[in-house]
Amino acid sequence: MQMDKDKQSALLGLTLQELTDLAEGASQPAYRGKQLFHALYSERITALEQISTLPLEFRSTLDQQDFEVGLPTVEKKFVSTDGTVRYLLSFADGQSVEAVWMPEGDDGESGDGSEAGEHLDAPRKDASRKYARATICLSSQVGCAVDCQFCLTALLGIKRNLSSGEIVGQVCAILNDQKVSPPHDRVNLVFMGMGEPFLNYPNFIKAVGLFVDGVGIPESRMTVSTAGIVPRIYDLSAEPVRPKLAISLNASNDALRTQLMPINKKWNLEKLLLAAREFQLRPREKLTFEYVLLDEVNDSPVNAREVLELLRGLRAKINLIALNPGPGIAFHTPAQQRVLEFQRILVEGGIPAFIRRPRGRDIFAACGQLKRTAELANVS
Ligand code: SF4
Repeated sequence: MQMDKDKQSALLGLTLQELTDLAEGASQPAYRGKQLFHALYSERITALEQISTLPLEFRSTLDQQDFEVGLPTVEKKFVSTDGTVRYLLSFADGQSVEAVWMPEGDDGESGDGSEAGEHLDAPRKDASRKYARATICLSSQVGCAVDCQFCLTALLGIKRNLSSGEIVGQVCAILNDQKVSPPHDRVNLVFMGMGEPFLNYPNFIKAVGLFVDGVGIPESRMTVSTAGIVPRIYDLSAEPVRPKLAISLNASNDALRTQLMPINKKWNLEKLLLAAREFQLRPREKLTFEYVLLDEVNDSPVNAREVLELLRGLRAKINLIALNPGPGIAFHTPAQQRVLEFQRILVEGGIPAFIRRPRGRDIFAACGQLKRTAELANVS
């Protein structure tokens, strides 16, 4: 394996096969790779010396080859009154992303895994529960190139892609901080933080495999959200192991969508919805569409009826998100009455529509609020 002597190489992000190759390359038996894999993803060790099962000789070889675990550093934590925690996580090169921990259950959040990433108004109590339930919203890029007009992350522009190890590392760092361990604890993952996962597809899909095989989070507990990178929707459909798909719709016609999401110029609604229709759903699986409601922009009854027409015949549900306000965003949050009316039209038209309750608005952790907040708002 090629080493860059100027900087440390992360073990996080390597597959079982890659770790086995690494062990064999150091004249170790193949099972040492398995021990490393277990220590990195299941035990989520923070330093090589914690792997007591590995012989000292192999650990010092790894050390000499400048390998490190590669977990991100928790730079800051913002804790919301609703239990949500926004993490600022930094990597070896000084770049940082945000990820959000959303505990579920006793405060009325959905937590049965079938609705990963959704925060629905359906109180649920389970006093006998002996495990934690939570959703982690994670990032796939530093910044984002997609430029959705209602999103704070877009104001950053794109800095770089995250490696698969950096994607997995966000989850490992948060699980360690929260002292939670899948599969015993039920953790959902949503790729809905900073960045467009489908513009970092190879690293995203490699991370998905590591979550399933290593961390112990099944694919059914993961959801990836795309702004509509159509070729990658087809790619995801063909993956043997994949998260559920959510499409960020946000408009009911091309003119409006192009105004709100310039990516629509490249892949318009016709192309996007064709890809959605051709997506190979598993039994009982549904596509999710997300729709950020912007006051007097895309939230009228006419818009709702147009959405109904767009989604007609699809096995789908729609999540409605009243805009989470942020500095530098020109749009406003619609009144609750408009949101309810929009939902009513969709439901009566036959599309399951859920209003997502914002999590952690007081700490700028809600949808579309990540990263830029530390610079723009007075929350640190
Ligand atoms: S909504 Fe998602 S895809 Fe759009 S700019 Fe924000 S982070 Fe990027």
